[in-house]
Amino acid sequence: MSFKVLLVEDEISIADNVRMALQQEGLSLTHAKTVGEARLQMSRDHYAVIVLDVGLPDQSGFDFCRELRRTDQTPILFLTARASEVDKIVGFELGADDYLTKPFSPRELTLRVRALGQRGRKAAPTDRWGLFQVDHEKFRISFDGKPLELSRYEFKLLELLIRRPGVVFSRAQLMQSLWDDPEMSLERTVDAHIKSLRAKLKEVRPDLSPIQTHRGLGYSLSETGK
Ligand code: CA
Repeated sequence: MSFKVLLVEDEISIADNVRMALQQEGLSLTHAKTVGEARLQMSRDHYAVIVLDVGLPDQSGFDFCRELRRTDQTPILFLTARASEVDKIVGFELGADDYLTKPFSPRELTLRVRALGQRGRKAAPTDRWGLFQVDHEKFRISFDGKPLELSRYEFKLLELLIRRPGVVFSRAQLMQSLWDDPEMSLERTVDAHIKSLRAKLKEVRPDLSPIQTHRGLGYSLSETGK
């Protein structure tokens, strides 16, 4: 079974070792040296597992994990250099799934990454919900069996809502998690995308409105996915 892994690590020698170990096992690895690069990669592709260093140049891995967990349940394995940090990680205060302390054996890393990837795949909470079906590899979403023609942001927005049915996302949360330059964009951009998404869903099923507005709070996908 193969899947994609995102490694966020600023030390090149560690990254090279991880790459070799994962590739030997037939897993594909994308390497980001900073949190900024990781965000960009995640906006472009879907990863089954994230391997995350704690000490990164632009932001700490802990903060990035906390930020991700507001909207994203991709399994995270932490790499940490300090045993003192382990308490924080294993307390799962951060929502991490596993950790290794440096130096670690590449073989052990591979085994743990594979276990996390399999777990994620079994759960597969995002592939189908109500009338929605998401194809992460082709970046496509179908509604009631009909493929939707979506722009990049429409896809990301709908995919996020489908991943957490019933959860209300504020406009600011949606901007921060989905847009490349949230500071440069306006929250009404989110409204515009929601409006066009709704129109596309209505074309398929005029009798349903699966995206709900919560006045003063934001948007959610209905808990039935219909
Ligand atoms: Ca580091």
